[in-house]
Amino acid sequence: MKEIKDQYIYNMSPSNTPALTVGAGETVVFHGRDCFNNQITSEDTGIDSLDWSTINPATGPLYVDGAEPGDILKVTIQSIELGDYGTMAAIPKDGVLGKDIQTSKIRRLPVKNRIATFAGKYEIPCTPMIGVIGVAPAEGEIPTGEPGTHGGNMDNTKIGEGTSLYFPVAVKGALLAMGDVHANMGDGEIMVTGIEIPARITVQVDVIKGESIPTPYLETAEKVYVIASDADLEKAIYAATSEMCSYVQSRTGLDLNDAGMLMSAVGDLEICQVVDPKRTVRFCMEKKYLKKII
Ligand code: CA
Ligand code: ZN
Repeated sequence: MKEIKDQYIYNMSPSNTPALTVGAGETVVFHGRDCFNNQITSEDTGIDSLDWSTINPATGPLYVDGAEPGDILKVTIQSIELGDYGTMAAIPKDGVLGKDIQTSKIRRLPVKNRIATFAGKYEIPCTPMIGVIGVAPAEGEIPTGEPGTHGGNMDNTKIGEGTSLYFPVAVKGALLAMGDVHANMGDGEIMVTGIEIPARITVQVDVIKGESIPTPYLETAEKVYVIASDADLEKAIYAATSEMCSYVQSRTGLDLNDAGMLMSAVGDLEICQVVDPKRTVRFCMEKKYLKKII
């Protein structure tokens, strides 16, 4: 099995050197550290002692032969294998409750058989998800902690095993990278951490020619999601909703008014995260209403 290990980036950028090159259809294992770059080893680790320049390491990037600007990169997440401990933090000024937090606190959660134990007594069943996953933008550098049309730090609880992500390819090879796995997370990620954990992610990559998308899409067994991010939550909501409306029109033949009413009847607008500090939302439709997906 081809794998990428001990190769991390902190910016998504066309100038990153590929860690590995594969062809379309191949399967790759990404070995990842947690979002703290594995620097927190006990509940006594001081938040102030962390090297913040290495926060949010993404493993990669992977060069996918044949992927060119204008194509779509499809990434199917086959499995997410979790490490033994997850980490959470409460940090003054961080997250929705930041102004109420007086002192920082770290929690380490043992994770066994996909049960995380919080504060020694709350057993949390885990649905693992990938916080950071994306491709390189056409130009410039985007920190791995930021979400955008390239993907990145979307912190979307639906990006889990058995799902497929679709990214707009902006550079040759796409340059896929990922990290920031959460053993579990609630929608919104209000304290800026899920259950942050090292993990091994296995994905299959494919290239779709002749179709293009402006922002990431996600497909699950029964649903399809448009994902959009913006510094302004209202703008993120409009971006996801208007893109889904165009997509529903093209996949149903309905006009804008009917597509919008169908979305209003059966579609769900959901929050991914509100803390990164750009906001990320998703609009969800059941696939049964659509003639084809991508
Ligand atoms: Ca994250
Ligand atoms: Zn995270």
